Amino acid sequence: MGGNSAPWRVTLTFDNGPDAEGTPRVLDTLRRRDLRATFFVIGERLREPALRALAERARAEGHVVGNHTLTHGTPLGLRPEAEAIREVEEAQALLGPLGEPERLFRPNGDGALGAHLIGPALRRRLAARGYTVALWNAVPRDWEDPEGWPDRTLALCAAARPWAVLVLHDSVPAAMQRLDAALDGLAASGARFVQDFPDACVPIRPRAAGLTEQQGRNVA
Ligand SMILES: [Zn+2]
Repeated sequence: MGGNSAPWRVTLTFDNGPDAEGTPRVLDTLRRRDLRATFFVIGERLREPALRALAERARAEGHVVGNHTLTHGTPLGLRPEAEAIREVEEAQALLGPLGEPERLFRPNGDGALGAHLIGPALRRRLAARGYTVALWNAVPRDWEDPEGWPDRTLALCAAARPWAVLVLHDSVPAAMQRLDAALDGLAASGARFVQDFPDACVPIRPRAAGLTEQQGRNVA
């Protein structure tokens, strides 16, 4: 077996929520299809009880909830390091038990990978505190084209074989009306939906389970 019929993986991620309209739409779709994903939430949104309840629902339904900064402002690598660290740690405090034990963090960067995402001091802090940083390799820019994005998604994910990490936005409810169509296309092309992340998209990952923070620093 080879070529287009070879099995491949897609990790589903939904960023910039929770959103009062978009997040329930995504959760309903995933539940109907029995799929598990990761929601990278904007920390300050969790101060609103109704939005926090949506993150709690996601967790209860088997999804992972990750940290996507406190305010989703200027990319953290372009900001003073102390401010960048505060963006991560205040968001993590708001997440509380919702973010444990995974401690997943995803920086914001308008879809682009690069040095603007995380500066050196924040990188050291994330590593020392046991965070896993989860980036991406397929961004169909659903927010720019809420109707047409599924058409681009299959090609972008196929280009990222054997393992695509797809970034979608539950913060854009109009786009999420097309989620089923995108998932249908991926499933029809043999994609298997998984919840973990490939090493190629994880620049920071705890070295080994069970290490204390001090031991972790010693082996780093
Ligand atoms: Zn984002």
